[in-house]
Amino acid sequence: MATKEYVAATIIHELVHGYYNETKGRSLYEDAQHNDMAVEYVKPMAEALVGIFSVTAQDAMALSWAGLYGTSAWETLKSLDPAKATTIKLISENYKNGYKGTKCNH
Ligand SMILES: [Zn+2]
Repeated sequence: MATKEYVAATIIHELVHGYYNETKGRSLYEDAQHNDMAVEYVKPMAEALVGIFSVTAQDAMALSWAGLYGTSAWETLKSLDPAKATTIKLISENYKNGYKGTKCNH
């Protein structure tokens, strides 16, 4: 049911964790990594997805937010623009459930 775009976003997310663990010697706990990722890496992660798939910048951004909903950066976005937050979550769910994107065939 998952799509290639969603799987790729998940792998990129895990790679960024790997990068933090290597460069910061695991001193940043997962929640802290997520906060930092939300602030520093949502844009580059989205750009990577746009480079790989034919997704819009908005969809790529939404995919990059997946897994970062528990962060203070997300809470800030939600309080500043609730409609945008709802849209981001909906787009991401659509890729997760296969309503949007390219379904994995195996
Ligand atoms: Zn994570």
